[in-house]
Amino acid sequence: MSYDNDNIFAKILRGEIPSTRVYEDEETLVFMDIMPRADGHCLVIPKTPCRNILDAAPGQMNACMATVQKIARAVREAFDAEGVTIQQFNEAAGGQEVFHLHFHVLPRREGESLRP
Ligand code: 5GP
Repeated sequence: MSYDNDNIFAKILRGEIPSTRVYEDEETLVFMDIMPRADGHCLVIPKTPCRNILDAAPGQMNACMATVQKIARAVREAFDAEGVTIQQFNEAAGGQEVFHLHFHVLPRREGESLRP
């Protein structure tokens, strides 16, 4: 499957639509999910075009994983979380809605379910 330059996260990367950016480095960007399923729910994306994990180069995966770990530790502190869930979906059949590679980082507390 090909990469669509007009997907929502490509527009966020280009600054064409607003987002709440919480971290960025040379290779990755992190911003808050617009419909958070937990307090502190954010999304880690590569800055270069990539549809999903099935399409990702090793460098994109390495960069995203390093940022996911950094953000997981940061949200655990910031949201006083007891745990952190990482979610990631590939293609429509796999639950993906936005076709730019992304990782959900979700702070969790005992007994609290993710919002739908
Ligand atoms: P997925 O593709 O992983 O199933 O879901 C895409 C995620 O992107 C959803 O959690 C959704 O709330 C989030 N999302 C969709 N559109 C926007 C947007 O315009 N801004 C932000 N910050 N998040 C979005």
